[in-house]
Amino acid sequence: MKKTIIMSIITSALLTNLYAQEHKSPATILEEALVKMEALVADTNITTTESNITNLDINSTVTDTNITKVDINTTTTESNITKVDTNSSFTLGKYGTFKFEKANKNVYIMHGPVVSPNRENQGFMNNPAVIEAKDGLIVVDPGGNYNIGKKILAEIEKISHKPIIAIFNTHKHGDHWFANRAIVEKYPNIDIYAHPNMIKASKEGEADVWYGILNRTTGNLKGTKPFAFPNKPLLDGAKIDIDGQKFIVQHPQDAHTDTDLVIAHLNSMTLFLGDNVMKGRLGSFDESSSILGNIELLENIKKETNFTLYVPGHGKSGKRDETIDPFLNYLKLLATEGKKAYDEDKESYEVKDEVMKKLSWMKDWDAFKRNMPAHLNKVMLEIGEEELAQE
Ligand SMILES: [Zn+2]
Repeated sequence: MKKTIIMSIITSALLTNLYAQEHKSPATILEEALVKMEALVADTNITTTESNITNLDINSTVTDTNITKVDINTTTTESNITKVDTNSSFTLGKYGTFKFEKANKNVYIMHGPVVSPNRENQGFMNNPAVIEAKDGLIVVDPGGNYNIGKKILAEIEKISHKPIIAIFNTHKHGDHWFANRAIVEKYPNIDIYAHPNMIKASKEGEADVWYGILNRTTGNLKGTKPFAFPNKPLLDGAKIDIDGQKFIVQHPQDAHTDTDLVIAHLNSMTLFLGDNVMKGRLGSFDESSSILGNIELLENIKKETNFTLYVPGHGKSGKRDETIDPFLNYLKLLATEGKKAYDEDKESYEVKDEVMKKLSWMKDWDAFKRNMPAHLNKVMLEIGEEELAQE
């Protein structure tokens, strides 16, 4: 095979250049949109003085805002079907007790167990979030099934009795959105936002695949069907105002999957990363994923606006580098080692033990031993495809 000097897939500068040739980087789109949104954020009831907006050019002229105004009076129809018990606590065996904690200005997060789905966690492993608006609440990724959703609802009522007025789903994996069902039961006309690819893929079989996975591993899917699919598609760069809360979403075309939204909440300067970042556990990539694309996305995010809080799909939220770097460094090491093995005409299984040694700092991450070899294999396939495309 031709072994020419080919682009180094591990240098971020080159990655960025390559990306720029084809499309505007999602982070750039976000950055531009943020500039335009700045004046509007300043008008909201919620004070924005703590926001870290130093990277924004606030002197820019606001010319095109294009904001979708959502009238919450038309979306909030409370049906009272679900009676929630606000006295009991939400406990999952050895994983302990879970509740929403204030993580940023008007943002509450419940950090789920950082493990794969199993009987004891009952299918709860993600990070549901609640954003408190003036007259209602906005939920991001309510969780992995109907029963968990009911518990999440009860916990939400402990922080506020305002109605839930909207949901965001970050991507197609059921552990993040199957709990929509419990919220829809109580608020039947609620708007559920997601990328159109997420809605399409879920309806065309991905929801059933995830139902099978979670049913087998957790046995806790009763009531989850019929699925409460998202009903409001959001394209890359969409800006939306929900009861004074301003969001911009970006859709990385190929990173964790091709269905993801990264959601920026501007009032609090919180960035919801979805599963483009995981901390303490590894998930799986599928045929729609790109590890090289995921690296590129995270490197762009690190270069752009500094948010005050970064929320991964799994694992603890935090400041930018502490949240993004462990997963990004993992992916970059896979790319570097994968490239080396590829150049030496080695197969991934021949080098995986050596690579695993270099990642000893991750040995306690959930599913590390199971998923790392598959990730290494995948990144080598991607490198091979890129090289073929160059020839
Ligand atoms: Zn996930």
